[in-house]
Amino acid sequence: MAQLCEQIEDAIFVLDSNLRYLSVNASYELMIGYKESFLVGRPLGIYAAEFLSEEEQLILKEIKDNLRESGFYKLDFSMANRYGETIDCQITYRKICIDQTVFHVGMLRDMSAVVKDQKQVAHLLNYDQLTGLPNRKVFLSQASDVLLDTYQEVVIVRLNIDRYRNLASLLGSEGINTLIQKFVKRIKELHLEHLRCFSHFGGDDFALLFECQDGNMVRHQLDTLMQMCEIPFTMNGNAATNANIYCHISVGVSYFPKNDAQVTGLLSKAEKALQYVKQHGGDDIRWYDKTIEEATSGSLQLEADLRAASAEGQFIPYYQPKFLLDTGIITGFEALVRWQHPTRGLLKPKHFIDAILTHKLSFELFSQMANKIAHQLSEWQQQGFCQHICINADAAEFSHPEFFDMVSGLLVQHNIAACQLHIEVTESSLIQRHDDVRKQLNSLKELGVRLALDDFGTGYASLSYLQDYPFDFIKIDKSFISKIDTDRTQHAIVKAILDLADALDMHVVAEGIETEQQRDVLLDMGCKNGQGYWFGKPVPADVATEMLVKQYATE
Ligand code: C2E
Ligand code: MG
Ligand code: MG
Repeated sequence: MAQLCEQIEDAIFVLDSNLRYLSVNASYELMIGYKESFLVGRPLGIYAAEFLSEEEQLILKEIKDNLRESGFYKLDFSMANRYGETIDCQITYRKICIDQTVFHVGMLRDMSAVVKDQKQVAHLLNYDQLTGLPNRKVFLSQASDVLLDTYQEVVIVRLNIDRYRNLASLLGSEGINTLIQKFVKRIKELHLEHLRCFSHFGGDDFALLFECQDGNMVRHQLDTLMQMCEIPFTMNGNAATNANIYCHISVGVSYFPKNDAQVTGLLSKAEKALQYVKQHGGDDIRWYDKTIEEATSGSLQLEADLRAASAEGQFIPYYQPKFLLDTGIITGFEALVRWQHPTRGLLKPKHFIDAILTHKLSFELFSQMANKIAHQLSEWQQQGFCQHICINADAAEFSHPEFFDMVSGLLVQHNIAACQLHIEVTESSLIQRHDDVRKQLNSLKELGVRLALDDFGTGYASLSYLQDYPFDFIKIDKSFISKIDTDRTQHAIVKAILDLADALDMHVVAEGIETEQQRDVLLDMGCKNGQGYWFGKPVPADVATEMLVKQYATE
């Protein structure tokens, strides 16, 4: 029996009738930190006397009293061992009489793991693992508590990080987690006034709860939050992600008592305001009001209309000529989408292009445009006009598995040379610097399709894109051309871009030329190709064809 006791995991000890140690097993020695040889003959409790608090001494007294009176005692408690470590344990004592001699047998079970598990489970249920912030459940209950007995105004804020998915694919899962942790740390360090709860609902989804005399007092705190996002986060990762990342945010706000009296109502109104911001390009704050409700139902209608437009082919290309600045000869056209809306008439991209991205319809748009453009090219070819057409694409479209096959299939089907098709990618869409995009662009380039970097100078990392992707053309954004004849800075920037392109063997197209003076200045600077209202606005296919007929007649 003594041997069995030595092997058992629970700590066992035997005391005499005066509660002095007679014997302890190995587990007891381990747990308490004293050897049996030291303990034998000493009174219970001796081992940790110097660590015992007043409360613990009371417990010890209670144990002694109970044993004397009832012969049995059981208790869950935390105690300190010889090394000052706290052990959560369960202790049972039993009084046993053998041959009229009284023994007290004690069993001590280390419950630390169980208690730790319980604490961990509670933590898991209530806190976000990554950030340690309270989760949605806790937020809801804290918000209800605040609303129940507040005499003040309560502001509920919903916050998302813009282009989160792009950032996640750029940084990878570890990188995005680090970014989120850095983001949370920064918000905490702002020590926002009146903040009662800062919660992480998961992903890029956060909520904040403020309580103060006047909800408007929170406006200033939210401005501080937006300003925080102007400073980039430095990410140290592999070469592709070694970068300064800007985390712009979209924020939706609702407040009690004006917008709603219930937490769920307030949350959903803040959510609607948030969605409104996101649909309008993000990077902004919006306080809930009635007009958002109307806009939301409008956006649902827009989504339904867009799906119908995709299915019924309502997207049509308009063609804007690109020309040689010195002779005015048309070198090709840029296809710009127009939506022939059944009730609202002809719509420009600014009315729907963001919604196309939001509702993941960009590939449908691209394939519809590419089909119509391929038809047009082959029609012009039959009329003897050898032209190229540029099609605009968002980098998101490249990740579509059928993208490459669709483009190469169209070229074969319509008997078009690959170099007659140019694809323009905007800088801003390239923030999703996925390997996929690079691969797709390289394959297109190998096929012979020409590639242009659109809106050059307006994105995050213009120069690095030139290095990373195989572009043939740079399109200088119209914002650099608008005052080129009067503004020295614009002039210097465009000159620098022209020199850079020259050094990299790339062609340049200046966008948005509206006056003859702008054309003249650009020509003087050595820019050869341009596009803009001065030479020609985007026009339907038949008008573009007439332009070509005229040009070829005079040649
Ligand atoms: P972008 O590709 O940079 O196209 C040039 C935009 O500038 C066009 O606007 C064009 O009409 C306008 N523009 C051209 N010349 C001038 C000028 O002299 N002055 C001024 N102020 N504007 C000029 P649009 O057609 O409204 O297109 C806007 C943007 O929508 C395009 O910018 C492009 O990024 C996007 N987009 C157009 N079509 C498509 C498409 O089929 N797919 C995708 N993904 N995006 C498209
Ligand atoms: Mg373009
Ligand atoms: Mg452009």
